[in-house]
Amino acid sequence: MDFEVTGSLMQSYNICKRQVWLMAHQIIPNQEHPYIEMGRLIDDISYDRDRKKLNFENVVIDLVRNDNGNLLVGEVKKSSKAEKSAKMQLLFYLYKLKQNGIVAKGQLFFPEERKKVDVYLTSESEAEVTNAIKDIIDIIHRDKAPSFKKIPYCKNCGYKEFCLS
Ligand code: SF4
Repeated sequence: MDFEVTGSLMQSYNICKRQVWLMAHQIIPNQEHPYIEMGRLIDDISYDRDRKKLNFENVVIDLVRNDNGNLLVGEVKKSSKAEKSAKMQLLFYLYKLKQNGIVAKGQLFFPEERKKVDVYLTSESEAEVTNAIKDIIDIIHRDKAPSFKKIPYCKNCGYKEFCLS
């Protein structure tokens, strides 16, 4: 089976390796989970005026703006609690854009907190992304999902019923 590393997998990688495997193997999470619903709602109502989706390869970027002649790509998130994983997802997009000859700046948006965080692809963060890509590929090629380990994120995870049953 061929697997593609996506922004969603990169985001999950920093939360839970088991979630990476489950997503990559197309095990469908509980779509009714309130966290997912809330995420969708925020996705629908926030930053509508600027919204332009950018699709290329296996990458879909939420928000694209011209920022004084520079390309700005953004991700809208519910909360900054998982800022590190959101940042890795955005760095992955910046990395994919760079591979396609496009230099861009990133910005994370947390509308409920009225917070914005600038994200830049540096040589250090690029190395972090390429290492994570290698590790994700290694995880998803395993025969079995990494074993369940309870973490604080489980209570908000769409796979909660699956993992706890
Ligand atoms: S419920 Fe917990 S262990 Fe299971 S995929 Fe979600 S975060 Fe990972």
